[in-house]
Amino acid sequence: MSSAITDFGQLALSTPILRALEEAGYETPSPIQAAGIPVILEGHDLLGQAQTGTGKTAAFALPLLERLELSNKQAQVLVLTPTRELAIQVAEAFQAYARHLPGLHVLPIYGGQSMAIQLKQLRRGVHVVIGTPGRIMDHLRRQTLDLSALRSLVLDEADEMLRMGFLEDVEWILEHTPPQRQVALFSATMPDAIRKVARRHLHQPREIKIESRTSTVAAIKQKYWQVGGLHKLDALTRILEVEDFDAAIVFVRTKTASVELAEKLEARGFASAALNGDMSQALRERTIEQLKNGRHDIVVATDVVARGLDVKRITHVFNYDIPYDTEAYVHRIGRTGRAGREGTAILFVSTRETRMLRAIERATRQPIERMRLPSRDDISNRRVERFKQQILDTLENETLDFFHPIIEQLQREHAVDASHIAAALAFQLQKERPLQLLEQHPPRESRPEPRREKSLGATAAPRLRRHPEIEMVRYRIEVGRKHEVAVKDIVGAIANEAEIEARYIGHIKLYHDHSTVDLPDGMPEETFQHLRKVRVRQHPLRISRAGEYTRKKHHKHGKAMLSQHG
Ligand code: AMP
Repeated sequence: MSSAITDFGQLALSTPILRALEEAGYETPSPIQAAGIPVILEGHDLLGQAQTGTGKTAAFALPLLERLELSNKQAQVLVLTPTRELAIQVAEAFQAYARHLPGLHVLPIYGGQSMAIQLKQLRRGVHVVIGTPGRIMDHLRRQTLDLSALRSLVLDEADEMLRMGFLEDVEWILEHTPPQRQVALFSATMPDAIRKVARRHLHQPREIKIESRTSTVAAIKQKYWQVGGLHKLDALTRILEVEDFDAAIVFVRTKTASVELAEKLEARGFASAALNGDMSQALRERTIEQLKNGRHDIVVATDVVARGLDVKRITHVFNYDIPYDTEAYVHRIGRTGRAGREGTAILFVSTRETRMLRAIERATRQPIERMRLPSRDDISNRRVERFKQQILDTLENETLDFFHPIIEQLQREHAVDASHIAAALAFQLQKERPLQLLEQHPPRESRPEPRREKSLGATAAPRLRRHPEIEMVRYRIEVGRKHEVAVKDIVGAIANEAEIEARYIGHIKLYHDHSTVDLPDGMPEETFQHLRKVRVRQHPLRISRAGEYTRKKHHKHGKAMLSQHG
């Protein structure tokens, strides 16, 4: 879906909200936002067909925040979600967008959480309630949640709620809300049962569909990597190391991400630059020029600024963050395979984004092949290959007259043969970037210095037996034997909630009142914050870095020592 709106400023949003978006690094509204925000702001009902990854949360959260009356401490917005994870995620989004609206209260409500806490917060007054249908029904029945002042109701992922058998509950809740409230219904698909709910409960809804127009992208080889185990940054650097790439463009969602990722890639030895809407036209043009002439090999860009970019050397497009719609995908990958050359497009997809992946396959009428990450051996082989080529190039292009007698002398004086000397030289040469990736020598790129300092201290970092190349970090969680948890409960919770495949979860050790678990280094902050709240057998994990926890404890006792658990 295309729209003339390219700037949040065009959307009649107030300063505090625009400021929050600016700070979040959002550059332009996604298609569902451009189309949906005005509709909701004007108070219409909305039927939106959009999946996760399209930016639908902001499409309803922003205009609903705008319509709130802060002075009225009654629930004015209710969002129903199929899962507690989504409820928490949506609540966090509201909170982030409302960071400059002081006094706004957002409350996620879901089963499994203490009723007492929920009641206390409800009594204190909340403006926005987000919850799963079952728990919301409980509160309505007990009259602990008052919806008499409700102005807007959102049904998020309605088809998921249908699939999970919540539709009756949803209708019951709809019937227990004031009749004049606004309803926005979002669903990835529109099965009849959902249409029926819409017909029954929505008033002349405006319909918005994020189109999947079909397009051909024949010359481009498309692959995807299922995010899990490694951090995306580590995955990207590994792929970059083994792929035969000339120049690459890496797409991210925010201006902030473009700068940060470009810096990180630069630190890992790739000539990289950011390209985003905060940069002046002149600077953008210079960056593109430098990509053309080889000063940079990688540009980390947001969608807007990459429009129309035509650089023939681009052999690879990385969709580091998944695009909002299939059209954006087609546009992004069209930056490679220019002028009849071959191109490769690689997409990073988290479990929650699988639907978008399928939509892209349908729209491009091409299956996208799943790829595995290059292994230690692949990287090692690749480095050896490059090393050999370097030697051959030197033999061919350099004058070595000065060096021959030195080697001959060494041979004579110490009775060593030339191949031994060559091996010793090879060893010297590769010290910085080992050719052989032993357990003690993970790829340099996957253990940048600053991050190592933050990790556990003097002892060697733990490693995963099946994936010794992955550096692990030891975390402490506040559930242990006394809570009757088993290792499999912990694996299950972390695998589900952090989207880390179980095989990447390392050693778990249970103690009386806590446990330790080894997880791949580089866990994104968002995941970490989310994991803090995840519960196992009703007990929140309250995850922390094992070292940090002890440091805090020691501080309390006046010592500043850092010791390690485990
Ligand atoms: P959703 O489809 O609502 O689950 O959003 C997917 C992700 O996109 C979230 O991480 C949002 O923070 C991010 N996002 C949403 N809208 C924008 C935007 N206009 N610019 C950049 N990122 C966005």
